[in-house]
Amino acid sequence: MDSLARLTEIFTHFPGIGPRQAKRFTYYLLTRDSRTLSELARLIEKLKNLTHECLSCHRFFATEKGGKERCSICSDTARSEETLMVVEKDVDFENIERTKLYSGRYFILGGSIPVLDKEPEKRVRASALKKRVKDDIEKGALKEIILALAATAEGDHTERYLRELLNALIEPAQIKLSHLGRGLSTGTELEYSDAETIRNALKNRG
Ligand SMILES: [Zn+2]
Repeated sequence: MDSLARLTEIFTHFPGIGPRQAKRFTYYLLTRDSRTLSELARLIEKLKNLTHECLSCHRFFATEKGGKERCSICSDTARSEETLMVVEKDVDFENIERTKLYSGRYFILGGSIPVLDKEPEKRVRASALKKRVKDDIEKGALKEIILALAATAEGDHTERYLRELLNALIEPAQIKLSHLGRGLSTGTELEYSDAETIRNALKNRG
């Protein structure tokens, strides 16, 4: 495979990108000057060193050399520890955070579980979530876990899995497990929801 074809193939593995878009990316890059391409290559090469996965919420955040282990939100004492919102991916977190409507904590699940999947624990951060919830319960502040998943069959399936996963932990501690209201219309991904939709989904959670 030549390098053009190989690069295009790599782009097809990006979320939501098909072969045609992947080709457009490759040809777009061919029209850029070499400075831009060098910068891009350098940023990609350093990506793993410039970012850190937060030990508490597992989101990726940019960090200085020898940076912190917890992100700005997890280390912000002004944020409420009563609610823990579970989202599928980093962009969902960013979208909710941008609305400034939620002041609790987060956990980034890292994906969702396809309906017929045989090994769900490999698709999402299941054991890390269990540990996080257990720690939060021991700290004594947690009151509610909000599942903020996509309003799709896969999102529903993921929710069922998480309810089962967490039940033994949260039931004795009387932690409420809610999900976003279906102001998010069916088929909607959180990533594409606007502030008004998120406001309603938060208000109508149950
Ligand atoms: Zn964090």
